[in-house]
Amino acid sequence: MDRILVTKSSMPPIEEYIEEIKPIWDSHWLTNMGQKHEELTERLQDYLGVDCVSLFSNGHMALELALQAMNLHGGEVITTPFTFASTTHAIVRNGLTPVFCDIREDNYTMDADKIEGLITDRTVAIVPVHVYGNVCEVEKIEKIAKKYGLKVIYDAAHAFGEKYNDRGIGSFGDASMFSFHATKVFNTIEGGAVCFSDKEYGLKLFRLKNFGIRNEEVVDGVGANAKMNEFSAAMGICNLRHVDAEIAKRKKVVERYRKNLQAVPGITLNVEQENVQSNYAYFPIVIDEKEFGVTRNEVGECLSKENIFSRKYFYPLTNTFECYNNQFDVNETPIALRISKRVLTLPLYADLDLDSVDRICDIIVDAKAE
Ligand SMILES: *Cc1c(COP(=O)(O)O)cnc(C)c1O
Repeated sequence: MDRILVTKSSMPPIEEYIEEIKPIWDSHWLTNMGQKHEELTERLQDYLGVDCVSLFSNGHMALELALQAMNLHGGEVITTPFTFASTTHAIVRNGLTPVFCDIREDNYTMDADKIEGLITDRTVAIVPVHVYGNVCEVEKIEKIAKKYGLKVIYDAAHAFGEKYNDRGIGSFGDASMFSFHATKVFNTIEGGAVCFSDKEYGLKLFRLKNFGIRNEEVVDGVGANAKMNEFSAAMGICNLRHVDAEIAKRKKVVERYRKNLQAVPGITLNVEQENVQSNYAYFPIVIDEKEFGVTRNEVGECLSKENIFSRKYFYPLTNTFECYNNQFDVNETPIALRISKRVLTLPLYADLDLDSVDRICDIIVDAKAE
C-alpha cells in the first residue's frame, strides 16, 4: 500500500505551468513585483473579496510585517496558543508580548468572551487565528477592538477563499494574513499575503517587504526582504484556476469522514459553522481516551503502522515552547491544553480517494480493539 501523508500539495498540469512561465524567459524579470506578481495580486483581490492584497515570500513574513506595519511599539497582544509556531513567533519577533486567551470548546478559535478580562493598559492588538478554517467570532472581536482602540490582525493561514455571511474572510479586522505554503489549500510553493483596506498602511507594508526603501535615495524603514518571486506568482495563477474544483473534492472527503466517524463514542468532529462557506482545509478529530478506550497517540500509532500519517496539530501549545522559557502559564488556557492533548488531524487533500478514507476510519475505529 502507498503511504498516505496528512496532506499532498496541489499542482497544476505541468504543461499549464510551463506555458505560464514562458513569458518570464522572454522578459528576464524574475522577481521584484513583475508581471506575474501583479496579475496574481489582482486575481486574488477579486477571488478573496478584499480591497487590497500584498503578496509575500511566505505567510510568516506576511504576518510579521503586517504587525510591524501597525507601528505598535511594544505592548501586549492578545492571541491564541492553539496555532502553528508562526503566530506567536511573529508577535514576539516584533518585540510585543503575547497574552494567551483560551479557546472555544466547539471550534477551537479564541474565546471572544474571555478577551476583555485580559485587556490591560498595555494591550495594543488582538491576533486571532481562524484555526482549521473555523471562523473566529469576528463581530464580537470587532466590537471589543473598537471599544478599547485595539488593532485586529487575523492569522487566516487556514482560511483561504472562505466566506462568512457572503463576505470574504480576509476583509475582517485591520489586516488578515493568508499562507500560500505548499501544504495549504492554495499554494504558490512558498508564499503568503496580507489583505487590508487602508492604502496608507498598504504603502508601509509594501516598503517593509522591500528593505524599507522609500525611493532611490531614501530608506526610512527597517525593512526585510519578503517579496514574492515570479515563479511562485505563476504557480499561484495556475493553482487559482483549479482551487474551486479542489475545494469541491476536499468537501467530498470531509463528508465521508463525517459519515464514518460521527457516531463513534469518544470522538468529537470539527464543527460545521453556519453562515460559513468552508474550504475544508483540515479534518481534526478530538479523542476522549476515557470514552473511546485508547489515546490520541495510540490511534496515531495504529495509523502509522499502516503507512498512514496523521499529525498532532496543534500540539504542543505555543505557550509551552522551550524557546519561551516558561514565561507563560499554560494553566491559563486549560481548554486549549486539553484539546491539544487529544486532537489528531487526519489526512486530507483533494485527491484522497474515498476508499482510503474508509480504510483510515476503519483503522481508527478498530484501534480500540488492539
Ligand atoms: C502555515 C501557517 C503559518 C505560516 O505560513 P508560512 O507560509 O508557512 O510561512 C502561520 N500561521 C498558521 C496558523 C499556519 O498554519
